[in-house]
Amino acid sequence: MRIYLDNSATTRPYPEAVAAMTEVLRDNWGNPSGIHSFGRDAFDAMAGARRQVAALIGADAAEIYFTSGGTEADNLAVLGVAGRFARGHIITCAIEHSAILNSCRYLEQQGFDVTYLRPDMAGFISVQQVAAALRPDTLLVSIMHANNEIGTIQPIAEIGQLLQNRGVLLHTDAVQSAGKIPVDVNELGVDMLTLSSHKLNGPKGVGALYVRHGVDIAPRLFGGGQENKLRSGTENMPGIVGFGCAAELTRGRWPEQAQKSRLARDELLRELTRLGLTDFVVNGEAEDWSRRLPGNLNLSFRGVAAGTLLLMLDMAGVAASAASSCSAGSGEPSHVLQALGLDEWRLTSAIRLTFGWENTPEEARLAAAAIYEQVNWLRSEAEGGLG
Ligand code: PLP
Repeated sequence: MRIYLDNSATTRPYPEAVAAMTEVLRDNWGNPSGIHSFGRDAFDAMAGARRQVAALIGADAAEIYFTSGGTEADNLAVLGVAGRFARGHIITCAIEHSAILNSCRYLEQQGFDVTYLRPDMAGFISVQQVAAALRPDTLLVSIMHANNEIGTIQPIAEIGQLLQNRGVLLHTDAVQSAGKIPVDVNELGVDMLTLSSHKLNGPKGVGALYVRHGVDIAPRLFGGGQENKLRSGTENMPGIVGFGCAAELTRGRWPEQAQKSRLARDELLRELTRLGLTDFVVNGEAEDWSRRLPGNLNLSFRGVAAGTLLLMLDMAGVAASAASSCSAGSGEPSHVLQALGLDEWRLTSAIRLTFGWENTPEEARLAAAAIYEQVNWLRSEAEGGLG
């Protein structure tokens, strides 16, 4: 048995995306900047992918800038805005991905001011908090659309309305939300938006920053002036074409896929209760599940060390993770759960189970049985050790 419940870390590429990439590697390997037919063929393939990615988020193709992934797109958004000013104020929140947080910390060292909004216990930032933090010198608000650890969905459209005509740019990291819930740049009212291909069944090492027409940000990479002078470097053609293919398929399939991951997620939770597991709690929003990503579950089990439980589950054939995949292995409790102000036992025993459209209710029941067994075993071991 091998059950993959780590779809927020990465997803399995669609076979169609793999085929599209293979074709580019084999038959369309020209440099898209070339002025000959090889270059034009490559350019056309890239232009097609740009349209496909743009269509997923209701953007214009010319507003899509390909990057090496979500991390680079987040960096480009934050540092790119700062690059146009000598000083200023940025608003973000404490539960952002480290690609945003570390960019902001870097800017603080350069003399910028950053406000890190604290979420409530369920993981939400309110539009009132953003309004209260605004200053005359605020340049940018960067708040993620959905959180990668607890799946909470932030009120980006309301924040977009708040910032309208205020001369403050709004960026959102939609790496986890795109392909799971509606993501439309005009409905959200954002100026910039980050995407990552490998979270929506595309290849790794490619992503995009949407930059609204008329928004001027500074480049971070200097060279041949590719991507309309914003992101130099010969483009990752296979990755970009695979990303485009995945974006197009996701656009047509996401409601059904989201429903499948939701059903599997709900089944696991139901099964744990049915089996009679005690003393566990959902981290993040647990009342109104529409405010949480469909495939996301984050659970703490009293008296159990998350790292040990994950190892046992892996041996039992269930792949899950602690906190985000990026910080897993650091031994540090998740900065997201810490920001919620949870009790110590919830921090040290939290695991993240993220379901994708390929997960079935049957898999969810099997995974629940494995969790039930391992949690009870670890608890009985701990008791034995004490006595
Ligand atoms: N932002 C969020 C919310 C993420 O979950 C991730 C990846 O886990 C990233 C950014 C980084 O994306 P990438 O892996 O493409 O660099």
